[in-house]
Amino acid sequence: MNADLDAMWSAGLSNGELAFPRCSACGAWNWYPLPQCGRCQSSQTPWVRVALQGRIFSWTRTHHDFVKGGVLAEPVVIALVEIADAPEIRIPCRQQTAGAPPAIGEPVNLVVGHFEDRTIWCFAPHSERADTAADKGAP
Ligand SMILES: [Zn+2]
Repeated sequence: MNADLDAMWSAGLSNGELAFPRCSACGAWNWYPLPQCGRCQSSQTPWVRVALQGRIFSWTRTHHDFVKGGVLAEPVVIALVEIADAPEIRIPCRQQTAGAPPAIGEPVNLVVGHFEDRTIWCFAPHSERADTAADKGAP
């Protein structure tokens, strides 16, 4: 990561906001960021905030600690999450709370997770908020 990208990513995590470069000329999302749009070569690619929602594209359960090495005390699920507002972008996210593995295509919410000395994007079941809204509207 270059310094600007690292700063943008870190600021987003600190603020609980997710944004990606989007071409002002053709509308293409560009991830990772490039000096010019990968589709039309425009240099106008401001960062645009997206909703914290996505879908599970794929997932895996890992027992390996990629930061410290060795074996994790408990395995974690890591998923590639397709961003709802920018479906051509997928980012790796950790399952926020250990539980049943997700289903491919399952809608999820993106949340900031803090683990030891790391702050990363995580995914949580989308149904938690939907259930709450449905309960309020139930007769
Ligand atoms: Zn473009």
